[in-house]
Amino acid sequence: MKNNNLTRLLFFTVVLFIAYNRVQAQDQATIPDSANFNRTVDGKAVHLYILKNKRGATVAITNFGGRLVSLIVPDKNNNPTDVILGHDSLADYRKRGENYYGAIIGRYGNRIAKGKFTLDGQSYQLDINGGVNMLHGGFSGFYNRVFNAVKTGPQKLHLTYFSKDGEGGFPGNLTVSVDYTLTNDNSLKIDYTATTDKTTVINLTNHAYFNLNGAGTQTITDNLLKINAATFLPVDATLIPTGKLQPVKGTPFDFTAFKAVGKDIDAADDQLKMGHGYDHNFVLDPHTMSQPVATVKSTQTGIMMDVYTTEPGLQFYSGNFITARVKDGKGNKVYGVRSALCLETQHYPDSPNQPSFPSTVLKPGQTYHTVTVYKFSVDK
Ligand code: BGC
Repeated sequence: MKNNNLTRLLFFTVVLFIAYNRVQAQDQATIPDSANFNRTVDGKAVHLYILKNKRGATVAITNFGGRLVSLIVPDKNNNPTDVILGHDSLADYRKRGENYYGAIIGRYGNRIAKGKFTLDGQSYQLDINGGVNMLHGGFSGFYNRVFNAVKTGPQKLHLTYFSKDGEGGFPGNLTVSVDYTLTNDNSLKIDYTATTDKTTVINLTNHAYFNLNGAGTQTITDNLLKINAATFLPVDATLIPTGKLQPVKGTPFDFTAFKAVGKDIDAADDQLKMGHGYDHNFVLDPHTMSQPVATVKSTQTGIMMDVYTTEPGLQFYSGNFITARVKDGKGNKVYGVRSALCLETQHYPDSPNQPSFPSTVLKPGQTYHTVTVYKFSVDK
């Protein structure tokens, strides 16, 4: 009799444990209801597009801002885990809290000093939307534009956008396409292509906020990060690069070997003070597409992300300005300061005003094409 009760107790404990883990896993990985995205914005249809591969990864993308809404990958126990921050509805994306969750950033990712630059002897004034500078394309940046979308396969989404001459103050009619491909090795590949009819500047990127512990869990300060960069770009008080390249060795910016994001984040360092944490462009060591430029790992979920890119720079932003607000994160989660990190592949900030930086100029007849891959695996 006693034995029977013990067996029953054990049985129910196991059932409860499995059920709890399932609920946890589901809670970590629910794709928002696509009905919450079916709206018309600027006369164009907005939807949520789902890409699924054969290895348990799912990506949800809306053509509003070309945004990654969910990116679900298996953790070390094979539980599906959503590793990016975002909202459950288009309405929440349009409310203007954090503008850039998962968005395609253009025409120019990052900052241009005082929103001014000169090209072919002509000066241009862009929007001033980030303190005294232009940030991420200005008020009409791609993050709030509606792309045309065509699902070209179960694992591919083709987005296009036509940015008129003068949009945001930038010269040239710009034809942009962004291709998202979810491959069967759990990689998300992003191809950016653009052409112009007038000389212009361009710097496209994606602004996904990653938390490999699972979106909405807690901070990313325990995530381990490695960046293959021997130097970074120190900034002034308005986060514009000074133009110098500073060696990372012996500074809190040394991520050449795996280090917890939070290890040195509050060190007494002028550059960290300026960014309220990390908000700096790393000058990537020479690389090809077969070598990761950066890797992040969660010791909790075992999820590991390798970043590959054709770009020369990587903005590492440790989510210092994410402010805890109402529960508008996916699944009613509250996202707070440093609850995610961004690894934005790009050319260096303010390049149009910094002749020593690699050029961001695009001329008629040329094709801009860059590729970035975020590859997910499990580090057991
Ligand atoms: C910038 C941060 C900025 C953030 C906005 C990052 O790319 O480097 O300074 O606050 O975007 O979400």
